[in-house]
Amino acid sequence: MGEAEIAAHTPMMQQYLRLKAQHPHTLLFYRMGDFYELFFEDAEKAARLLDITLTTRGQSGGRPIRMAGVPFHAVEQYLARLVKLGESVVIAEQVGEPGTSKGPMERAVSRIVTPGTLTDAALLDDRRDALLLAASLHRGVLGLAWLNLANGDFRLMQCPAEALQTQFERLRPAEVLIPDGLALPLLDSLAPALRKLADWQFDADTGTRLLTAHFGTRDLAGFGVEDLPVALAAAAALYDYAQATQRQTLAHVTGLSVERESEYLRLDAATRRNLELTETLRGEPAPTLLSLLDSCTTSMGSRWLRHALHHPLRERAVPAARQAAVAELVGERTDYGIDSRDGQLAATVRSTLRGVADVERITARIALRSARPRDLSALRDSLARLPELDAALHGCQASLLGELRAALHIAPAPLELLQRAIAAEPAAMVRDGGVIAPGFDVELDELRDIQSNCGEFLLALETRERERSGITGLKVEFNRVHGFYIEVSRANADKVPDDYRRRQTLKNAERYITPELKAFEDKALSAQERALAREKLLYDGILDALAEHIPSLQRIARALATLDALAAFADAALRYGYVQPRFTDTPGLHIGGGRHPVVERQVDNFIRNDARLGATRRMLMITGPNMGGKSTFMRQVALICLLAHVGSFVPADSATLGPLDAIFTRIGASDDLASGRSTFMVEMTEAAAILHGATEHSLVLMDEIGRGTSTFDGLALAFAIARQLLEKNRSLTLFATHYFELTRLNGDYPECANVHLDAVEHGHRIVFLHALEEGPASQSYGIEVAALAGIPAGVIRDAKRRLRALENREIDAGPQADLFASLPEPAQDEALSHPVLSALAELDPDTLSPREALERLYALKRLASA
Ligand code: ADP
Repeated sequence: MGEAEIAAHTPMMQQYLRLKAQHPHTLLFYRMGDFYELFFEDAEKAARLLDITLTTRGQSGGRPIRMAGVPFHAVEQYLARLVKLGESVVIAEQVGEPGTSKGPMERAVSRIVTPGTLTDAALLDDRRDALLLAASLHRGVLGLAWLNLANGDFRLMQCPAEALQTQFERLRPAEVLIPDGLALPLLDSLAPALRKLADWQFDADTGTRLLTAHFGTRDLAGFGVEDLPVALAAAAALYDYAQATQRQTLAHVTGLSVERESEYLRLDAATRRNLELTETLRGEPAPTLLSLLDSCTTSMGSRWLRHALHHPLRERAVPAARQAAVAELVGERTDYGIDSRDGQLAATVRSTLRGVADVERITARIALRSARPRDLSALRDSLARLPELDAALHGCQASLLGELRAALHIAPAPLELLQRAIAAEPAAMVRDGGVIAPGFDVELDELRDIQSNCGEFLLALETRERERSGITGLKVEFNRVHGFYIEVSRANADKVPDDYRRRQTLKNAERYITPELKAFEDKALSAQERALAREKLLYDGILDALAEHIPSLQRIARALATLDALAAFADAALRYGYVQPRFTDTPGLHIGGGRHPVVERQVDNFIRNDARLGATRRMLMITGPNMGGKSTFMRQVALICLLAHVGSFVPADSATLGPLDAIFTRIGASDDLASGRSTFMVEMTEAAAILHGATEHSLVLMDEIGRGTSTFDGLALAFAIARQLLEKNRSLTLFATHYFELTRLNGDYPECANVHLDAVEHGHRIVFLHALEEGPASQSYGIEVAALAGIPAGVIRDAKRRLRALENREIDAGPQADLFASLPEPAQDEALSHPVLSALAELDPDTLSPREALERLYALKRLASA
């Protein structure tokens, strides 16, 4: 809307439209009295999203103005809902004094709320990080920059454009910034809140300039980001945007780090989903690996754990150090040759952590000057617990525990300050007063004295005035609207002394003020006002003082989170009987008595299974009936590897793991409707990614590949894919299939071992044994299981006959076997068979001499080629 158009509106709407013009893509909450109002399209959108009433408010520019509003005292709850929906909100508050100017009251933007820049405890999910991410693309290179404003963590990465989906699934940003001109497939479906900014905002030189200015360095060499121009371009837009939303310098962004794809075990998007790390396939939070392991005491620990499960490290030194720490927390020892675990250290650490608040986010709010009084009292109480942790970790052997203990150390100043300055139980808001502790500031104490002496003065005055006037029912009181007054009942009104001035008339009483009371009122009210102002000033000073300790508070928060998560690993190890895995440099893996961590909690009697893969046993061809446990087995192997690389103990009796660079999965059939790809297309896309990406150090899970197409197609593809994996990729592969024919691969490739899962009949039920055995499954298990399941005998007979016919039919009869071709009656079967078969049927090998046998063979060959 141009100025000319704006001029046609009322003055207040003009003010609104000018503000709106600065934030065209964001909902504008415009404060009017006790409400935040939205107008025009914003009103319609908010009415739809929040289910609030859409009304109109007069006319402006000749048209009715659509309007919707939310009460100011409930605004946080509406903001939370909007942010969850990926919306952003700008809040414009009234800033002028009412009635001081003509025209509408002045309003100014006081706060900008966007899904990726939240730091407010009321709006953030405390068990999950909300990241703001910017992406930029240049010649096939994807540059990413992301920031966690709630803890100041700022990272950059460059990777090939194809890795977009993988990276988004890994980082799960809450809000994404991209250049206007950028077209990347799938982006819309991957990013919940997508914001397009002008292309020029993504500029590497600007990025370098902004960041050197922010960190106060001459260049960015110290951060190792100079060779990442595309990521720096993204960082430019990101930094600008974050700064604008906070309207503050980002003092807690104290560093910048670079992530390389090679740091982590590669897990593509499908694998993260299939393994149900933090979300079930249906998108629910439980039961998942995270929901099982997350017994963290603090939300910092929970967030650390969620992040860690998505970031298993390739280099094994760090996970090994974590495991050594878990072992010590578990209290593992061997007494008289008997392994025992007392779990004492873990219990002590966990109970100490119980009183610890979200130091990480409080620190960020201190930096952004938005910390509330209760943040500071919680920080004080948390810091006071550190000596206990220090004592608990004293004398620990594991080097990581020693490092964490050192990181938990803090200079005494901030804790002393908090203990002296903040009231034991401060009010929620500084503006309510009662936040600063008594004894911290002389001036504040004096002002407070005046207020508390107030009561005595008023009592004395009341007694005196009763005597003077002879009115026994006279009362001296105070209320917020009318201030101090002397109340006298209507009946006694004629007895009041001359110096009483009437202040207010009620139905049955009159209220008066005297010069003495007025003088007192002025003093008391100004004392109160001055006390509040003084508290505000002192509070700001405390925030300033604390801001100097941000780096150490961040270090402490990090250490607390790590310790909490390690203690949760210890807790799982104790509770579920996990063991410490061993890393070796010999390629392959050897798991004894492995379990699926989530499934074993859901069934009564989980059967443990071994898994062995190595140079001479690269692939397990897994057969067995549906529901036999094939998927569970494959997933448990992947989860054990993943947990080991995260630093946890694992659900097994023993686990020895060689080097690993990636886990690939092709599991289950899910239509990717969002991108319009069919099940089979998804299946093949995932398989293609595996064949292109898997190395001999990759673990590959292939479940029922080829199922999405016709039998022969599927079989042929599955066969070729398995061969490729054996010959070219040479990966460690678990290959579950219902194509029994694939068990013959073992003939050509001894490194492809056949294993199977069985089912047996027990009474009238089928019992799945869930135990992995060497060798292929019995071939006709499908129909057998169907029979066991109670499919009528006639149907089973028909199925068996058809199976035989299909197996006998020659492939050149057509491109696909025709299941529906009418079958001859059983009696005619033989007549229709191939002459080779009839000739073979007549043979009695036992009566043939070797020479005759050879002649017959030549005859058969002639028949077959005829
Ligand atoms: P498949 O992939 O062969 O069709 P699943 O792996 O999906 O079979 O397993 C089917 C069900 O069997 C699982 O949901 C689980 O309840 C149970 N199950 C699987 N493996 C085991 C096991 N080792 N011990 C006990 N129950 C198991």
